[in-house]
Amino acid sequence: MATIDFEFRDQILKNDIGNTLAYCYQCATCSGACPVAQVTEGRYNPRRLILDSLLGLKEKIFGAENSFTIWGCTICDTCDEVCPQKVELTEIFTILKNESVRRGEAPEYYTTQASTILENGKAIPMQSAVERRREQLNLPEILAPDVEEVQKLLKATKLDEKLPKKEE
Ligand code: SF4
Ligand code: SF4
Repeated sequence: MATIDFEFRDQILKNDIGNTLAYCYQCATCSGACPVAQVTEGRYNPRRLILDSLLGLKEKIFGAENSFTIWGCTICDTCDEVCPQKVELTEIFTILKNESVRRGEAPEYYTTQASTILENGKAIPMQSAVERRREQLNLPEILAPDVEEVQKLLKATKLDEKLPKKEE
């Protein structure tokens, strides 16, 4: 049986956004509207994630085996729009995702993408083949990002410290 972690619960409830968690009355409108819940036949379930957070059931939320429980969310904000209690679901899920990153449990497809942005200043690095093709099609040149500027901003958020270190 999962144990209640009061410290974790309070950690979410302590700020203005997190304490909207307490207004949830489990109507399931969020799960009914969530596109991810629909295509995964309920395997991803925002109502349950809110309930587990409210109950402080940390072990049902974190751990590599529960990765999809948090990271299944695409941050589309639909749940926030339909919630009759104005629970800030997406923001609460961001608190959970940040904790997941802190625990070193973020899925590799997220950390790899973040590393690519940190290295290249954009999610999809410039590719000469694509640039040549665009030229042939008379499409405008893609402006290169200011990599140093992007890195400066991301390092100010300590992103580089949160990403797994690459093996030499
Ligand atoms: S829609 Fe709002 S009140 Fe209803 S279950 Fe979801 S979070 Fe709770
Ligand atoms: S923000 Fe996440 S939980 Fe909410 S509806 Fe979109 S995918 Fe579902």
